[in-house]
Formats: sequence, C-alpha cells, structure tokens
Amino acid sequence: MPLNQFCKDIIAPVSGVPLSAEKLEQFSALYDRVLEVNSVMNITSLTDMCDVALKHFADSLTLAPVISDIGGKSIIDIGCGGGFPGLPLKIALPDYSVTMLDSTEKKVRSVEQTAGLLGLSEMHFVAGRAEELAKKDSPMRERYDFAVSRAVARLNVLCELCLPFVRKGGYFLAMKGAGADEELKEARSAVFALGGKVERVIKQSPDCDEILSSVSAASEQELERLHDFCGAGRSIIAVRKVSTTGGKYPRAFAAITKKPL
Ligand code: SAH
Repeated sequence: MPLNQFCKDIIAPVSGVPLSAEKLEQFSALYDRVLEVNSVMNITSLTDMCDVALKHFADSLTLAPVISDIGGKSIIDIGCGGGFPGLPLKIALPDYSVTMLDSTEKKVRSVEQTAGLLGLSEMHFVAGRAEELAKKDSPMRERYDFAVSRAVARLNVLCELCLPFVRKGGYFLAMKGAGADEELKEARSAVFALGGKVERVIKQSPDCDEILSSVSAASEQELERLHDFCGAGRSIIAVRKVSTTGGKYPRAFAAITKKPL
C-alpha cells in the first residue's frame, strides 16, 4: 500500500495519533529524506517503507499521547541520531519546542536540514555529549518538561544522561523493548540518585486485529510486519523528576558506564 495510506490506516491507529493531510505529507517527505540521508550516512538499517513507518514513525509517535496527557511545552531528544523519536514527535505535537541533541555533529546538521524541509519551526539542534551539556551551571540543565530517548544506552546509564536535563516536576520518557522490566530493576538506584521516581511503565500492545478490521488493502508482508510490531513488547518507562539532581551528576561518560549508579 502507498506510504500515505499506510500511515493513515495503520500508523495512526497503532500509535494513537490522528494524522491530518498535512502531517501525512510531512511523513511522506520524512521517508524520502530518510532514504536520501541513509545513502550517504548510516542512520538506520531499515529502508523498507513498512519497516520505517512502523519501527521509526509509529514507534516514535507512541510518545505523543503520553506527553499530551501530562502536558508541557518543551522536549529534548537525547541521542536523536537520524531524528527519532524527535522528528515524528514534533510533527505530532507542533506546539512543543523540540531540541534535538546528538554527539555526532553531522547527524545533528542533517536532522536540522530535514526539519527545514518539513517546515518544522521552533526546533533547536545541539551537537555535543549529553553528560557535558547537562553539567551543573549549564543553561540546558533542568530546563525541559520532557527528555526522551531511544536506543542510546541501557536505562541505568541513560538516566544519568537524561534526568539532569529535566526540570523538577517534568518527565524522562525512555523507550524500551521487551527487556524493559529487567532494565528497570537494574536502574532503580540510578533513578533515585538522580532525583527521579518511576511513575509507570506503559506497555505498548496495540490491538492488531482491530486495526486490521478497517483495512482491506494490506499485503501479506505488511500484515506480518504489523503483527510483529504489535507483539514486540515495547514499553515507555515514565520517570518523574521529583527532586533536583545533585551537582556532581552527570559524571564523565567513562565513570557513568563503568560504575552505573
Ligand atoms: N535515537 C535514534 C538514534 C539511536 S543511535 C534512534 O532511535 O534511531 C544512538 C545515538 O546516540 C547515536 O547517534 C549517538 O551519536 C548518540 N549518543 C550516544 N551517546 C551519546 C551521548 N553521551 N551524548 C549524546 N549523544 C549520544
């Protein structure tokens, strides 16, 4: 099925985000851009339409209903790579200010260009290491309503990279796969030490059959991918920042990974 229709009939119900004609156009342009960028820089191993739409677009979009239910104005995507989850989130929530941060300068510049092509405004692009940019006295520290991150590090390490950016009362939303419960156990003390509190784990298990009940044109391959995606055991771990982070965090990256909190 063409990308536009796939996004309208499948990605919107799978993620719980309604997609207007304008948003569908933006996703179509984003797909073209993913292919173009990927031909010169390795940002994803997925290039098939169905894979990109499910594993990058829908997966990223699942954060949007969680963010709008809580409410706020600003989001920072830590380790945004080729633009996920931040770019789909900005498409879904155009009123939010979205900051894209990655340690690789050329990825950040490419995401900035993509945002321009999609007509996304009120976005910020920062090249640098999270643990350096969130240090005590940095203007980016404790400044965002939401920090989000996908596929950057295990949760115990990720907490130290992300929680320092979140203002007291805000949230760190970690996107995790089937190993979320185990990562959570391992990260309990890091969450606490950095001023966080695990509020909930939102399991993503969309009702595949119900979604398909109103779709007639899906191919065998699309059906299979959708089933796999719905049953993949993805979750969003919502950590609320209940107190400010102590000035000694975040530590240098070597210390964070060698001795996670
Ligand atoms: N979030 C994207 C990319 C994941 S790859 C996605 O889900 O598709 C991990 C990215 O994190 C890489 O682009 C890498 O440059 C970045 N990264 C890793 N450690 C980082 C750090 N300490 N600070 C900033 N970016 C980091």
